[in-house]
Amino acid sequence: MRSRLLQVTRSRLAFLGAGLGLHLQSDPALAKSTSGAGGSSVQRPQFRFGVIADIQFCDCDDASNFAGTEVRHYRGTLSQADAAAEHWNRSGVDFVVQLGDLIDGQNAGGYGAGLDFAEPQSESALARVVQALSKCSAPMYHAIGNHELYNFDWRGLVKRLQQPQAGAANGRDWHVASAERLRQSPEECTAHKFYFSWRPAEGWTFVMLNAYAVSIEQDKSSDGFRQACQLLSEHNPKCFEMIMNGVTQGDFFTGLERDEDMRFVPFNGGLGEGQLQWLREELRAAKSRGDRIVVMSHVPMYAEAATLRTLVYDSEAALEILHRDGGGNVVAVLAGHLHRGGYAIDEGGIHHVTLQSPLNFENCFGYIDAYADRLELVGCGEQGIPSRTMRFATAGSHLGQEPATRTYDTARAYVRYTFRATLPVTTMYRYQSILGRLRRTPPRENEVPTPAPMAPLGGRLPPPPPAHTRHRRQRSSEAARSSAARTDLALLMPPPPPK
Ligand SMILES: [Zn+2]
Repeated sequence: MRSRLLQVTRSRLAFLGAGLGLHLQSDPALAKSTSGAGGSSVQRPQFRFGVIADIQFCDCDDASNFAGTEVRHYRGTLSQADAAAEHWNRSGVDFVVQLGDLIDGQNAGGYGAGLDFAEPQSESALARVVQALSKCSAPMYHAIGNHELYNFDWRGLVKRLQQPQAGAANGRDWHVASAERLRQSPEECTAHKFYFSWRPAEGWTFVMLNAYAVSIEQDKSSDGFRQACQLLSEHNPKCFEMIMNGVTQGDFFTGLERDEDMRFVPFNGGLGEGQLQWLREELRAAKSRGDRIVVMSHVPMYAEAATLRTLVYDSEAALEILHRDGGGNVVAVLAGHLHRGGYAIDEGGIHHVTLQSPLNFENCFGYIDAYADRLELVGCGEQGIPSRTMRFATAGSHLGQEPATRTYDTARAYVRYTFRATLPVTTMYRYQSILGRLRRTPPRENEVPTPAPMAPLGGRLPPPPPAHTRHRRQRSSEAARSSAARTDLALLMPPPPPK
């Protein structure tokens, strides 16, 4: 509590300094925020919190994911965790939200580089990430990701990420589970301890969900395991057969045709009815208090902000609850899991942010300032999480939403960072020259390429205009260039990768 008070005080001092025209630190991201992204005068946020997702550290060489669609810089994420902690300290965050997948599944020794380890690295890898993040003195809230469950069981996660515990004197104020439910039945440790809520400030409720309450990555005697088996066998029988035969790596999407079945793969998970009922009650209680509500989950729940392949199993039910029981008060859903990230606002005005991963982007962390009428996401650096203003809907109308203008920038950074280390120089040169040519040359009449569906790949998209309209449409040269470049990027961008 004392460290939190110190944090809040530091945060307030930083803003006081900014108000007086002083810069208490040289952090450009902070300077940007305090100069007032929402206007010329400095407005103080009610609180500020750090964000990061999918650190996925492993002490192994860079490698591609299973599908071969992205290169992951496993060692580099440790220094990013370190830099993130420093950044949050400098920025005076009041707390941090870590959205899951702290270390990679390979650490457990079962696949990939892990097969070459003399013994599992789970313990030492997590210890290094924990040490890096511990440099941040603010309280930290952790989501459960699939890679947590590849390395540890539920009890092991409480032991390592719920702090302080009796006898612990490391000064951490960390939360991965409901302290109340842990206290009520300390002898049992199941998935249902790992969702909880807290109120970071008057007028705000934060809800942390466990997207793997229904998952095959847990004790086979649990309800969540049985439910996951049932869902996989119903919606993705070939994948279920693979798992039953002990095949843990492969193309889990073979034979899937229906969009609504794509999410039923082992690296996603579900909330389950017990957690959904808890969510209903939490939202109703928060709404009756008039709180703004922020929901967090490792796995996204809105396809337009992610892909159909990276959604929680019961995303429709969850979204319905957010709208029906928390409608007007739920302002944002924060997630990770899909490393290239995404953003969309849904029909009910809820902002869905999928954070990019440090495995694929440099300087991939940031913070969010909470105001009465908006959240200001401030990314760090050009490549990482795009900064974004998310205004809240009021009385059923959306207050001037800012378009997702940085989707293209993010895609470009993704391609650059992913390909840089691996492509031969000649290939890189060809890629750059093609891109450069497309940027310079507007498409000819009747050859206007259709803009690629960058952010919501696989999601619901408005139908393209009829061909004759498209051909006759007059475009500014800038729009045409942008469209051409995006089409080129869409060809280079891989399909959504399995996590
Ligand atoms: Zn994940």
